[in-house]
Amino acid sequence: MLKVLKFGGSSLADANQFKKVAEIVKAEENRRYVVASAPGKRFSSDIKVTDMLLQCFRLSSEKKSIDEMFDKIVQRYNQIISDLELDMSLDDEFEKIKFAILNHVGSDYVASRGEYLNSKILAEYLGFPFIDAADGVFFFEDGKFDSEKTNKVLGDILSLHEYAVIPGFYGSMPNGTIKTFSRGGSDITGSVVARAVNAAIYENWTDVSGMLMADPKIVENPKPIDEITYTELRELSYMGASVFHEDAIYPARKAGIPINIRNTNRPEDKGTMIVSKSSSVNDTVITGVAGRKGFTAIFVEKDMMNSEVGFGRKVLEVIENHGICFEHLPSGIDTMSVVVSSKDIREIKGNITAELVKAVDPDSITLFENLALIAVVGRGMIRTEGTAMRVFTALANAHVNIRMIDQGSSELNIIIGIDEENYEKALKAIYSEFVKA
Ligand code: ASP
Repeated sequence: MLKVLKFGGSSLADANQFKKVAEIVKAEENRRYVVASAPGKRFSSDIKVTDMLLQCFRLSSEKKSIDEMFDKIVQRYNQIISDLELDMSLDDEFEKIKFAILNHVGSDYVASRGEYLNSKILAEYLGFPFIDAADGVFFFEDGKFDSEKTNKVLGDILSLHEYAVIPGFYGSMPNGTIKTFSRGGSDITGSVVARAVNAAIYENWTDVSGMLMADPKIVENPKPIDEITYTELRELSYMGASVFHEDAIYPARKAGIPINIRNTNRPEDKGTMIVSKSSSVNDTVITGVAGRKGFTAIFVEKDMMNSEVGFGRKVLEVIENHGICFEHLPSGIDTMSVVVSSKDIREIKGNITAELVKAVDPDSITLFENLALIAVVGRGMIRTEGTAMRVFTALANAHVNIRMIDQGSSELNIIIGIDEENYEKALKAIYSEFVKA
């Protein structure tokens, strides 16, 4: 039952949080590999160490003094060290990092030092060896993550250590320089470590007790999600509902390792379990509902479209030639709509319409702008009749006009397009249809 744990920035923001982390790690002997983020915010107006480091990097490139900002970073770490009463000093490291910033060493290197330093402290505090991610996490020349080399080398290194603390967020390029994942990337490191050591579970410790069935900014007190499949999670996070870096799903998923989102401040909560296949069906039928504004549907109509070979390809080619990817493709017999992100086509609407006329000579082209999409996601939908009807009835009762419907072939979700102004109302209506107060 080997476990890999990742603690996010707010879980390691100060000494008090470090104490909670140590308690969690020490509570189970099989919690053996710990991935750490850089110190995050202690209060809402606080600044994350990663942002302070990047700020130092910018100041230095503008030839401005970094002293004040850098001292703040040093103080944050020294405060943690002294509050934890640790007998250690990071002064040599601080000096090295400052020198690197002043000499314009890459921004990735600078950004990565937040997790590097924090992991040194956590390793000392837990009494675990520190394993540098630069030695076991690798990127290709083109900057893409080298999953197989990482899996092999990291697995070999960690097999030599029963326990370890590994900094999240970064690894190294073929020439040895440091490269980071995108922001929030320590989640990915955690997943990668879990795969490399073949963990039974990947615990991702953060400051919320898992995922919620709907956005709490819109729906009052939404229910937590106890269990969600990787596929459902992907659908919901596409719509912006995530407490977890999207790319972090893949390594764990590949190895079939469940991910448990937990709350460092409420370790008694079970959190959300992300699994490949769920054994249980939700009593709510749906697992969650999420959505996003900012879409445009390009609606193309042509009589006998269905018998015109290559029609769809020609339409999509016009979109592709502008380097835009389409998000959805709901189609009828003589109609085809291509849903794209509004910001992608804002400047080129006229060109696209003209090019479509030339490419497929349609009867009409209409652009539906200001479209919001809502995804109603649930593995239980396959087994439950009438889910779509309930969604549509709920929207009709709330006087929300449906502009588009797209049910994925997986029968895992129903995607509905509505006017942006109805977004909040629609989300509330769907949620309360399935989750009775
Ligand atoms: N510290 C990095 C960030 O702020 C990575 C992470 O926390 O996952 O994005």
